[in-house]
Amino acid sequence: MLAIQAARSGGPEVLEAVALPVPSPAAGEILVRHEAVGLNYIDTYHRSGLYPLKMPAVIGLEAAGTVEAIGDDVTRFQVGDRVAYNGTLGAYSEAAVVPAERAVKVPDGVSLETAAAVLLKGMTAEFLVRRCFHVKHGDLVLVHAAAGGVGQILVQWCKALGATVIATAGGEAKLTLARELGADHVVDYGREDVAARVAEITCGQGAAVVYDGVGRDTWDASFKSLARRGMLVTFGNASGPVPPFAPLELSGKSLFVTRPRLFDYIATTGELDESAEALFAVLSSGAVKIDIGQTFPLAEARAAHEALEGRRTTGATLLIP
Ligand code: NDP
Repeated sequence: MLAIQAARSGGPEVLEAVALPVPSPAAGEILVRHEAVGLNYIDTYHRSGLYPLKMPAVIGLEAAGTVEAIGDDVTRFQVGDRVAYNGTLGAYSEAAVVPAERAVKVPDGVSLETAAAVLLKGMTAEFLVRRCFHVKHGDLVLVHAAAGGVGQILVQWCKALGATVIATAGGEAKLTLARELGADHVVDYGREDVAARVAEITCGQGAAVVYDGVGRDTWDASFKSLARRGMLVTFGNASGPVPPFAPLELSGKSLFVTRPRLFDYIATTGELDESAEALFAVLSSGAVKIDIGQTFPLAEARAAHEALEGRRTTGATLLIP
């Protein structure tokens, strides 16, 4: 089968196509034949070495497809089930074995493409708005990179919870997208002073929570945009990792900072299933719509990485085996 591996840490050029045998599921595992693979920013961190992996490695954490074989002791699934998963390395491939406990059934009415586009990004939005910080009606929320994969879902979910959303993005086309998703205010963080705009929009009050997946480039603006006792949720490094800072800096407004990981919020199968249930509920209610902004053949994963890191994507990106 075709798989895409990072030969070593580096730029998109280290991604290479390899032919690997189709793996067999061991006890507790299922073999999933992939219909679509989700591209996520974390794949670029694995490839670049920001999050070190033993190389060479088939990267990718998210895919959806059909169960082709099951190992001993698997009761959660049967051959032929439509499933998706989001935390098992090796998704850049035509098929992969996954622990049955780490996959979920895809409900009827949700396509496998949508499932591959949404499972990781959507569960991230789920824990960010419902558990990491509990977004409530009337909260003022700042969402960075709002036209991106996670960003689009965050904007819509926060709106569904009754928040007022200030969305940032780079360039007019992405700002228009954010507006169409329901953002109340949009700010071009490439051209405008974000903290000044937030102060103006909120009459000096600031945001109750800032969702920041951009990292280094937005850190200062995020900090300055917070209300008293506000929370900065720094959950990604699209522009690079945030430099060290001193806890004393929080004392100005009694702020909170958290640096969460999805996999600590879906660590148990019970948490995984609850997160999936909440996610599929907002999809089926129509409160959150998934935009598959672009698709690439799996063999062109390198071009997909270049587009994602070059800020040329919107919404979710799929790799099609
Ligand atoms: P996106 O689709 O959001 O792509 C990243 C976006 O970040 C770009 O489109 C771009 O939007 C913006 N950006 C700003 N500065 C830069 C820069 N210097 N280089 C590249 N992009 C930049 O990606 P994802 O939806 O996959 O992920 C969003 C973030 O969420 C990532 O940081 C990711 O690591 C994080 N994440 C964290 C998780 C966790 O558990 N902690 C789980 C899932 C995702 P624009 O052009 O508008 O600036």
